[in-house]
Amino acid sequence: RLFDDAGLHPAMLENVKLAGYTQCTPVQAYTLPAILKGYDIVACAQTGSGKTAAYLIPTLSKLMGKAKKLAAFRPNPATFEAGVSAAVRAEPLILVVAPSRELATQIFDEARRFCYRTMLRPCVIYGGGPTIDQIRQLEKGCDVLIATPGRLCDFMDRTHLLTLKRLKYIVIDEADELLTSDWEQEMNKIMSGGDQEEGNITYLLYSATFPKTARDIAKNHLAHEHVRIR
Ligand code: AMP
Repeated sequence: RLFDDAGLHPAMLENVKLAGYTQCTPVQAYTLPAILKGYDIVACAQTGSGKTAAYLIPTLSKLMGKAKKLAAFRPNPATFEAGVSAAVRAEPLILVVAPSRELATQIFDEARRFCYRTMLRPCVIYGGGPTIDQIRQLEKGCDVLIATPGRLCDFMDRTHLLTLKRLKYIVIDEADELLTSDWEQEMNKIMSGGDQEEGNITYLLYSATFPKTARDIAKNHLAHEHVRIR
């Protein structure tokens, strides 16, 4: 299956070509059309299968079609610097949760490629990194937030910084690592979308395996119809 035939936004197709991709990998061929149609996804995919592009390409492509609406979400850095923060926090539309700093950084690099020459802005936040630098990045605007769960929950508590109320997509990458009892509290908070208002989040779960605990946690959130891809 070729990207040319996938029905992507022209700006996305351009960036896919710049990345040198012509043909979909199997996980892309299965999940990309389902995401474009608006389904929730539970997909089994190993690292190296092209899973990152499988969720970034269709979600970003959808947002590119709404460029004008997006402009309204962009905070004004000048107001931030003046300390008037209440109305100007970051309001991402796509949230990608990953279990490690390394994976989060890799996803961010790929998101940057796909956002090239569009008005979409990716940001990455993770534990262990200097908080102040990450806040500065968020302040410049953030449409796609890539995050590790601990730092994300910390930032979600600082409601003047970050709100998930406009969120459209939650992607859980390496879901088998994240949907365990170790992260249960954080993931329940994240999966329920924090202060999300509209209740119409699309969930995209990617994992090498789906143990029972992960399926149970996922089931609580994937209430409506979803596509399972093995
Ligand atoms: P991932 O499984 O997301 O870690 O991706 C593994 C590698 O495959 C990354 O370096 C991607 O840049 C690359 N890749 C993803 N999709 C494609 C594609 N359709 N064609 C060629 N390379 C790809």
